[in-house]
Amino acid sequence: MNKRIAIIGAGPSGMAQLRAFESARAKGVDVPEVVCFEKQRDWGGQWNYTWRTGLDEYGEPVHSSMYRHLWSNAPKECLEFAEYTFDEHFGHPVSSYPPRQVLWDYIQGRALQSNVRQYVRFETSVRAVQYLAAEDAFAVTSVHLPTGETTTDLYTEVVVANGHFSTPNMPAFPGIETFPGRICHAHDFRGAEDLGGKDVLLIGSSYSAEDIGIQAHKMGARSVTFSYRTRPMGFGWPDGARELPLVQRFEGRRAYFANGESHEFDAVFLCTGYKHHFPFLPSDLALKTQNCLYPDHLYKGVVSEANQRLFFLGMQDQWFTFNMFDAQAWYVRDVILGQASLPSPHQRRAEIDTWRERQESLSGDKDEVQFQADYIKDLIEATDYPMFDLEEVVATFLAWQEDKKADILRYRDVCYRSIMTCTLATPHHTRWLDAMDDSFDTYLGPALAEAAPR
Ligand code: FAD
Ligand code: NAP
Ligand code: MG
Repeated sequence: MNKRIAIIGAGPSGMAQLRAFESARAKGVDVPEVVCFEKQRDWGGQWNYTWRTGLDEYGEPVHSSMYRHLWSNAPKECLEFAEYTFDEHFGHPVSSYPPRQVLWDYIQGRALQSNVRQYVRFETSVRAVQYLAAEDAFAVTSVHLPTGETTTDLYTEVVVANGHFSTPNMPAFPGIETFPGRICHAHDFRGAEDLGGKDVLLIGSSYSAEDIGIQAHKMGARSVTFSYRTRPMGFGWPDGARELPLVQRFEGRRAYFANGESHEFDAVFLCTGYKHHFPFLPSDLALKTQNCLYPDHLYKGVVSEANQRLFFLGMQDQWFTFNMFDAQAWYVRDVILGQASLPSPHQRRAEIDTWRERQESLSGDKDEVQFQADYIKDLIEATDYPMFDLEEVVATFLAWQEDKKADILRYRDVCYRSIMTCTLATPHHTRWLDAMDDSFDTYLGPALAEAAPR
């Protein structure tokens, strides 16, 4: 059969895949039919915010884990697309840590410019992907959610881009079942406005715990307690915030910690991470991995070892995001179009092993971010995606880590220089800690919002 490509998900990764094919088409390459399935009404993945939690209007699991007042948690200069800059999108410098709506606008601006929306089947959820050996193709079954109509079509290649921060990892703690206050996973957290005057407990010691914790502080929580399993985050927390070792049990609203302390709480947030989840894939094709920098069984981090016509985007733990998804999508495109050739399965396995051995040896942020930069460099070298100064991005990530150590409440006020254009970000008109209205228009200011490319 003729080549026909299915992309599952139109988040930043799926959009990168669409854009990669379009970029080849613009250069005169004969690009096969591409269909992108997106279960939501709009694209943007995590950045397509919803107030809903649990199930959506069609009974599908709600995808986005973002909350109303989420701002970028790393400098935007680290995620900038090499071939669509912030300068090009906004026409003037903006701050280094935009709120989610502003970043969503940027992702969308790039995808609209390349006219790829026509390839997306919105409100269409992929239910099953089955490999048919006789046809050497995949049967992809999807349901159009508004009508309930199911369709099965054959595709020669499948690109899985469904994200991996949507299915909560939910550990249990003795006594939590009778905790009388609010309990929710970070996935279902939508805002901290109701936490004013409350004593808040966050279990976990990574980005969600840190960010929801300082959000609760910003919204006037009386106390914020972080509870870690492995090690504390160690930031200079404001008065009223502290880190304690892991909760051992609850009794009523009182939590007992491993160091013998106990305290009463009004709300508990499980910031305990997510599970990679592929309900539409049979077990022999589904990726089985923890959240790590180099998941096993993916050559170049994207080509499935189980089937070389099956690809996964964005499955890594993420220091880099948008520009890494681009590098992956450009490489996957070239493999599909035959512009990049795959070595033998044995050589692929050996290369996966080499990266994974290096992963084992990493210690600390500097090693980790350099590892991911080297991984991206390897991908870009194999494609025509514009190479950018990855060492500068590494330096920016490390500077960001220092900013957080210096002041966890003010790191978002720092300005960085674009690696792509050298433009220096402008300070936001309001410090993050004081900025209660972070809508698109207020962020840009009336005149600039009016002129924004929406
Ligand atoms: P996603 O964005 O998760 O998109 C996956 C898409 O697949 C969704 O649109 C979903 O609806 C669709 N889908 C899923 N299943 C199906 C199906 N069966 N059929 C059809 N469609 C399906 N990154 C940053 O760079 N900066 C940040 O500040 C930042 N903040 C974050 C905050 C939170 C709370 C989280 C969870 C993540 C954050 N990230 C951030 C990382 C985020 O993962 C990436 O920015 C990016 O959204 C990942 O893109 P993706 O396309 O791989 O996955
Ligand atoms: P994560 O980075 O995978 O961290 C999971 C945390 O849960 C770890 O601290 C882990 O502890 C802990 N944990 C897991 N199981 C546990 C258990 N049984 N008991 C106690 N602790 C347990 O997940 P995340 O923090 O949700 O971050 C996910 C993504 O969201 C990241 O890419 C992040 O950048 C993004 N994010 C961004 C923002 C933003 O501001 N823009 C906000 C939130 C999240 P161990 O260390 O012991 O394993
Ligand atoms: Mg190149």
